[in-house]
Amino acid sequence: MKYFIIFSIIFLLLSYSLSQDIPIIRIGLFKMDKEMNFTNVGEILNSYIKVEVGGNGNLSLKLDKESAIINFGKDLLILTLPIFFYPQKDKFISVNSMAYRGILEISENEWIINTLNVEDYLMGVLPGEMPSSYPLEALKAQAVSARTYALINFGKHKFFDLCSNVHCQVYKGVNFERERTNIAVKETIGEVITYNGQLIKAYYHSSSGGITENSEDVWGEYYPYLRSVRDVEEINDDTWTVSLSLEKIKMVLNKSNIYIEDIFSIELEKSSTGRVKNVIIKSSDREWKIKGTMWREIFNLRSTLFDIKYNNDGIYLLGKGMGHGVGLSQRGAKFLAEKGYNYREIIKFYYQGVEIEKWY
Ligand SMILES: [Zn+2]
Repeated sequence: MKYFIIFSIIFLLLSYSLSQDIPIIRIGLFKMDKEMNFTNVGEILNSYIKVEVGGNGNLSLKLDKESAIINFGKDLLILTLPIFFYPQKDKFISVNSMAYRGILEISENEWIINTLNVEDYLMGVLPGEMPSSYPLEALKAQAVSARTYALINFGKHKFFDLCSNVHCQVYKGVNFERERTNIAVKETIGEVITYNGQLIKAYYHSSSGGITENSEDVWGEYYPYLRSVRDVEEINDDTWTVSLSLEKIKMVLNKSNIYIEDIFSIELEKSSTGRVKNVIIKSSDREWKIKGTMWREIFNLRSTLFDIKYNNDGIYLLGKGMGHGVGLSQRGAKFLAEKGYNYREIIKFYYQGVEIEKWY
């Protein structure tokens, strides 16, 4: 019986996919909270039982040890985890008012996991990664990058493939989809970026500030297709400034377990593109070398592309761009699209020596 049900689940997962060739992906949405409300649930399955849900498929669910207590209003049902919720015909299941394509699983480790095909997933990703008002060719370049990122990162997490926040790719489900971003996904269905026939690490960022970065200068790892390129000129106006007093610098570094009594000087060590590789701080008898990426994180800076000037009580940072600077610049893609580049040309502008292939 157990094997029959597992077989049925696998069959349903497979038949769910619109085309048998589109890969199925499992997205970790969030960890179960105290009690959660679901709507449009058509069927509930676990390893032992299959239950049809009538009406509008409303139910609430809470966990008790390894079991789920499902409340239909009048009736209760107690099931051992994992359990799978299938949607009612032509509807999307929602959990706490967030609607999702595909099916939902409450896993043994109490995660709510959304299983769906990669194309449906991307429709819920794109609006969170790029403004839907951007030109269609920029959105298509983003769709191909996000698809490549998703496929190369299958299994990034232990209990599912990708999570639904910035750690992987922001994914908010069907309510956040936009018509233009959906068109960008559909018009590039199955297309990915490859280098020597292999999927690439399709990194992207908000704005390069004028020049993109070599991968090894950010993460220490060299990739032949993640080379620095001079970006479109329009992007040069993307500047930012931050003032940091010496007191604030000491306090913030303190929180990161770097204790400095007196700061005598602050100097920058830069990469070939002008991004800060290391910040060198000197006191009367010591020197600290702090990685530019760490400096950016602890001071919450938009990028590592900055210069410093001394002022009365500290330093003044004058920076450009937003994000790590590696791979495709989203703001640059917008300007390139406005200049008439198509999505293939945009992709080949930011990733060197790559091909765009249909993966399925
Ligand atoms: Zn993640």
